[in-house]
Amino acid sequence: MSTFHTGVYPGTFDPITFGHIDIIQRSSVVVDELIIGVASNIHKSPLFTLEERIDMVEREIKNLPKLNSDKIKIYPITNLLIHFCRDVKATIIIRGLRAVSDFEYEFQMAGMNVKLDSSVDTIFLMASERYQFVSSRFIKEIYELNGDISSFVPAYVIKQLDKKMKPKI
Ligand code: ADP
Repeated sequence: MSTFHTGVYPGTFDPITFGHIDIIQRSSVVVDELIIGVASNIHKSPLFTLEERIDMVEREIKNLPKLNSDKIKIYPITNLLIHFCRDVKATIIIRGLRAVSDFEYEFQMAGMNVKLDSSVDTIFLMASERYQFVSSRFIKEIYELNGDISSFVPAYVIKQLDKKMKPKI
């Protein structure tokens, strides 16, 4: 049996936040290879295009310590997650869990995925205390209302939000 474990951390990353980056760093210690799967997720009508979201994730991975970033790859996911896992030979799905709000959805998704393919298991990392309330959705709402988001997302993400959402005069 292979002892090399590839994990997939899937998400919409619309946009990537310090909460995501924290999960990426912590999970890259747990697996031998970490694939960040950026989901096209058209049903969620993301603010950023798939290419823009991948670009933001890529930038932040480059800023991680080499020990972590060397193990990380970034791919788009345009098919079913479990099929994607099979394609990249991943046996682990990694998800982050914030307080109680994420639990029901995550529990259902993990349950469905294990029914679709029992050779792939989901592991959860609890959100770090300081990022417990950070979500891409709130970031966008706070930004729209001119709130300060600099402690929740990297500077490059703020620049991209400026480009996307600031009215051009
Ligand atoms: P999805 O649309 O798949 O939920 P997200 O980009 O919103 O994509 O989230 C991807 C994963 O990261 C999910 O498991 C989510 O619970 C987790 N996550 C998001 N924000 C945080 C955070 N602040 N701390 C820990 N985990 C987080």
